[in-house]
Amino acid sequence: MRICRFELDGDVRYGVVEGDAVVPLADEPWGQIRPHGRAVPLARVRLLAPCRPGKIVAVGRNYRAHAAELGNEVPASPIIFMKPATAVIGPGDTILCPPQSQNVHHEAELAVVIGRRCKQVPPERIAEHVLGYTCANDVTARDLQKLDEQWTRSKSFDTFCPFGPWIETDLDPGDLGVTCRVNGQVRQQGRTRDMVFSVPVLISFIADAMTLEPGDLVLTGTPEGVGPIVPGDLVEVEVEGIGVLRNAVARRPTVV
Ligand code: MG
Repeated sequence: MRICRFELDGDVRYGVVEGDAVVPLADEPWGQIRPHGRAVPLARVRLLAPCRPGKIVAVGRNYRAHAAELGNEVPASPIIFMKPATAVIGPGDTILCPPQSQNVHHEAELAVVIGRRCKQVPPERIAEHVLGYTCANDVTARDLQKLDEQWTRSKSFDTFCPFGPWIETDLDPGDLGVTCRVNGQVRQQGRTRDMVFSVPVLISFIADAMTLEPGDLVLTGTPEGVGPIVPGDLVEVEVEGIGVLRNAVARRPTVV
């Protein structure tokens, strides 16, 4: 099942994508999934980020070749950091490059959407707490990441957490292709089987530190091939079995 959030005539609803139509849901998708109302052509709605995370936890250096390309060691335990909910944008929205950075990078990632409260759960029981999977771009101001020495500012600019286009609920995350294209050219092409720490191990590790709530989002790290995006680019993140997340890139407008 593909769960989306969409806007139609000013109303925002959750829905299920079926072919080229969206069936609206009665409620948020954390409990029972109950259709409510008539199907609408997908072409008529605006897809939004497929949920509203209370928090976003991300994982650094979770693919060996990516750790190596930035001159880093493979970590002995997961390196986690957070991105703010204000960084979220949806499919079709625009990534804005801020004037503080001259080197904004794409990072294509598999993202996990929590469906049931998750606190101190062993890896073998994590699947019960996952609603599904989506595509994400962990947009990063690489120069500021180095300059600041810690990662918060570089990862947290408004628009730096595009995800979507929907949440795929029927998927095994163990061996999926993760691809990034910029203007149609392939920049990253990895497989989730090459993760240093698997999805269940990551979520269990995070949930040992903080309670994960329904709608929280976990970004699982990026494969090698990260590189710059600049105003005018179109960046696509594709995860096998899910779909394609497309976002244009522009300069951040000056607030007057
Ligand atoms: Mg990342």
